[in-house]
Amino acid sequence: MKCPNCDKKLTNERIRRVKARQGTDGVREAHKIYCNNSCFEQFRSEGAKKRKTCGECGEVKSYAPHPNRYGVRRCAHCSEIAVSSRRLDSEVKSLVMLNPGAGFSYFIHMVFGKTGRTPVWLTRPRLTLFLQDLQEVDGIDYVGWLQNPDTMRVVKQEDVPTEMQKYMRGQRRSVPSGHVRRKRIRDGGLPREGGSASVKIPPEFRWGKYKPL
Ligand SMILES: [Zn+2]
Ligand SMILES: [Zn+2]
Repeated sequence: MKCPNCDKKLTNERIRRVKARQGTDGVREAHKIYCNNSCFEQFRSEGAKKRKTCGECGEVKSYAPHPNRYGVRRCAHCSEIAVSSRRLDSEVKSLVMLNPGAGFSYFIHMVFGKTGRTPVWLTRPRLTLFLQDLQEVDGIDYVGWLQNPDTMRVVKQEDVPTEMQKYMRGQRRSVPSGHVRRKRIRDGGLPREGGSASVKIPPEFRWGKYKPL
């Protein structure tokens, strides 16, 4: 058995003495055992400090920020400017970096959840503002990065999976119908394959160390 504070191995003597003092009370049996009282005090103040630390800005506050319903612990200021209630800003930024060419709609759909309470039309300006703020700090055009058409996948229109159709770029409005194709063949034209036009769709989403909601 080790001390939860300093990770040193506890002597059998220490364990025996603490256990004897705790008695056989079932509740108290679950208590941790420390080397001594100063290890206990230190562990407790570290825990208090951790609870008062904002998970976003890393500042130790005078109060313990309450984790929101998604388990994100942020100070009042960081909560106010946060781009997502479910993910830290740093996480959103990393996911943007991992997914050039995803485009706003697809990115929001993947990262902010399909059944999010905030609709896309509200999330989009928030995300844009967030990326513009970041650009002011880092000098990187994150909006352009997220929308970069050069990193999109080029696929045949008919190969686009249904769920990706709304994220297509450069699509033709309509695929020639069978009727039109047959007429072309009758007229001596080559049988042009329906929908052989190439379109662009976002690259496969990369999560890195993060997980879908
Ligand atoms: Zn210790
Ligand atoms: Zn903060």
